[in-house]
Amino acid sequence: MIKYKLICNECKNIFDSWFASSKEYEKLKKKRLLACHICNSQKVEKTIMAPQLISIKKKTKDHINKTKIDNVKKIMKDYQKFIKNNLEFVGENFAYEARSIHYNKNKQTKGVYGKASKQDLKELKEEGIDIQMIPWIDDKDN
Ligand SMILES: [Zn+2]
Repeated sequence: MIKYKLICNECKNIFDSWFASSKEYEKLKKKRLLACHICNSQKVEKTIMAPQLISIKKKTKDHINKTKIDNVKKIMKDYQKFIKNNLEFVGENFAYEARSIHYNKNKQTKGVYGKASKQDLKELKEEGIDIQMIPWIDDKDN
């Protein structure tokens, strides 16, 4: 069975109709056995539909996903900007600097950011040092 949306060219009525196959539809149309449910006109045709609508919807969905990703990227960029402006970049020395802040309370710094290995992170956490892991976007990704 196949369902077609049919439109009447006389009264512009649109209605669904079931056929055994697309061939049956063609046969009934040739024999003028298709008629509008409302005005009984035989000027009834299939409406063009489905595939175009689906592709529009998919595009819209992709667009939404892309917008979402862009939003997240923007939030992360803003976050990175905040960190860059407020914290000191120490690169590979992160573990050392984090310890030095933790154990030397008088050290004049707001905080540091940099890189650390998984092992470093584990050890720092075990020592009770307050660290945050954040995903980082390299500028060159754009
Ligand atoms: Zn009609």
